[in-house]
Amino acid sequence: SKQKGLDTPHFFDPQMQASVRARVALEEDIRAGITMSEFVLYFQPQFNGQQLIGAEVLLRWRHGSGFVSPDKFITTAEQSNLILPLGNWVLSQACKQLAEWAKRPETAHLTLSVNVSPKQFKHDQFVDIVLQAITSSGAPANRLVIELTEGVLLENIENAIERMTQLRAYGVSFSLDDFGTGYSSLSYLQRLPLTEVKIDRSFLHDIDSNASGASIVRTIVSLGHSMGLKVVAEGIESQTQIDYLKTCDCFLWQGYFIGEPQPIESLEKLLVQTN
Ligand code: C2E
Ligand code: CA
Ligand code: CA
Ligand code: CA
Repeated sequence: SKQKGLDTPHFFDPQMQASVRARVALEEDIRAGITMSEFVLYFQPQFNGQQLIGAEVLLRWRHGSGFVSPDKFITTAEQSNLILPLGNWVLSQACKQLAEWAKRPETAHLTLSVNVSPKQFKHDQFVDIVLQAITSSGAPANRLVIELTEGVLLENIENAIERMTQLRAYGVSFSLDDFGTGYSSLSYLQRLPLTEVKIDRSFLHDIDSNASGASIVRTIVSLGHSMGLKVVAEGIESQTQIDYLKTCDCFLWQGYFIGEPQPIESLEKLLVQTN
């Protein structure tokens, strides 16, 4: 095959050109999707034992013939800053839902956990944007949980602590997503005003497949508890996993086995059934 000249600028690489074109096209599709209201929210139930206590809010994109999964567009949305309008929309919709639930005694206790991407969290206006979503909807701030990943929290820990503390003062809580997959020291994590950690679903998967996986889950749960945090197990796919989590004293559960991400109407039906 033909050797590329050293003076060939890399952006003439046809393969790279194709992937740039694909990314630009996806960006345009996301932009159009926002204006055409193609994005919808799904809600994955969270349980405390048998009791439904809330849901994680998961973005879905109704595009073309079916649903596009967040794994296919969140990264591009993040790279192109489109995550900002998209993320604000998710936050404001979640707050509107909390405000609705607050009106009825059967639903007033439910919480919503919203995923916030690094770029959203680092944005200058982040605290104001969250407070704006809360005040304009009338949502009870103490029912809103913000899920963050380790990387963004530790990139600038002082700044993260300040933002989180400001929102904590209004009652907003914070969950550390994908707990156990990062590499940061516990003394660092301990400085953060978290209320909860979510054990990454890869560890849950390992409960079934090997013995050391099971002991890792037990260790993570007790670690979280010893830091005074709630510990949510996500990615639960079997009764075996539930039984094992009980022996670890972990009763906060999320996963396909007990409830898939679903439209709001079916979540509310589920609430009636489990009551
Ligand atoms: P995540 O925050 O770790 O969310 C949990 C993911 O695990 C969801 O995938 C959910 O559908 C899936 N899941 C739930 N139960 C099970 C189970 O039992 N087994 C397995 N294998 N998977 C399970 P989803 O909805 O495709 O979301 C993927 C990722 O996209 C999320 O991972 C989150 O990082 C991101 N994401 C989703 N919605 C938003 C959003 O509104 N904003 C931002 N910034 N990111 C979002
Ligand atoms: Ca999450
Ligand atoms: Ca997760
Ligand atoms: Ca994740």
